[in-house]
Amino acid sequence: MTKTNLVGAGPEEIEAVVAELGEPRYRARQIYAGVYGRRRTSWDQFTELSKTLRARLAERCAIDYPALLRSFDSADGTRRYLFEVPPRERIESVFIPEQKRDTFCVSTQVGCAVECLFCVTGKIPMRRNLSAGEIVGQVLALQADRGTVSKRLNLVLMGMGEPLLNFDHVMKAIRILTDPDAFSISPRRITLSTAGVVPGIERLALEPVIPNLAISLNATTDEVRDTLIPINRKWNIATLLGACRNFPLERRRRITVEYVLIAGVNDTDEDASRLVKLLRGLRKKVNLIPLNADPWVPLRPPSEERVAAFRKILLDCRITAYVRRPRGNDISAACGMLAGRLTPPGSQEETPQAPESNRGGAERPEAAADGIPRP
Ligand code: SAH
Ligand code: SF4
Repeated sequence: MTKTNLVGAGPEEIEAVVAELGEPRYRARQIYAGVYGRRRTSWDQFTELSKTLRARLAERCAIDYPALLRSFDSADGTRRYLFEVPPRERIESVFIPEQKRDTFCVSTQVGCAVECLFCVTGKIPMRRNLSAGEIVGQVLALQADRGTVSKRLNLVLMGMGEPLLNFDHVMKAIRILTDPDAFSISPRRITLSTAGVVPGIERLALEPVIPNLAISLNATTDEVRDTLIPINRKWNIATLLGACRNFPLERRRRITVEYVLIAGVNDTDEDASRLVKLLRGLRKKVNLIPLNADPWVPLRPPSEERVAAFRKILLDCRITAYVRRPRGNDISAACGMLAGRLTPPGSQEETPQAPESNRGGAERPEAAADGIPRP
């Protein structure tokens, strides 16, 4: 009999297991707190339970985190984790140390169906949604690796995949992550980033626990956004920003508007002025992300001066705008770079989601003389 993995189980599922074993209900709470709050991985650690019950639990239930294949350390302290999930798929998470906080970036899908032009994850065909267990399992595995549990932990759903296209599993994971008996991470410390799945934003607005919302806007005209983010043809800029304006925000909370700056595509002064107009009336902050270049992406980042000029136009209109410096670029861990790669960039072995093992993904494109890959 295959064992039920309790990583990803909600309180009611653990109650069902406990009921089947003929045990009182409060045992479920003990198990739930042990798995998530105390991060126990073996039934032997549940010393508050009788030996007989522990043995019966061990027969029926597992406490399994995603299998860590490798981790990669960047010169800037960032660590990229490569996990294998069934059936032999690869996903990634990133630990990003910052001055005032640590950030965990986790994946929500294997590959991504949205296929944004600028994103390496989007080059991997969508394989499947991750389960709630595989999402919280990444957090558990990272916490286990870091040893101590950071008090200033921020969690961002900005790894591989589009979280709002895996709505139910993502929301289940968020409920466990925020539950005081489990991870007890404040929803204010969790950010969900979407490429603009409007029905998902509308559903999120109705949830009892709502994380911070980030939208990847990345363009100021539908013409450009259509080419960068194909789902813009379904939910255009006006529809997306309309959903953001209706999104309930608690006091002092703001929507994060991510804007990947791409040379000659969306980085002009006119774009900056249009962005100011588009965002009028929205409580927001803007994160400008100079494109992370990659052989898989046929685009280039703007110069530092262009980035600064773009930001100044926003600041002059009293819009909070930060420039996000890439973290973990040397280990393919920066925004949009997650592709299940086994080796750091520049290495000869580099193969995003190795095709020979049927893990999805295409062959690495041949770089032409100008360094731009051709489809
Ligand atoms: N699918 C979600 C979350 C994951 S992507 C989304 O798109 O929002 C996280 C962020 O990385 C997004 O804001 C995306 O615009 C950005 N990104 C993707 N590719 C990038 C690249 N090559 N350089 C810089 N940022 C990139
Ligand atoms: Fe998917 Fe986000 Fe990458 Fe677009 S930017 S392909 S939505 S992961």
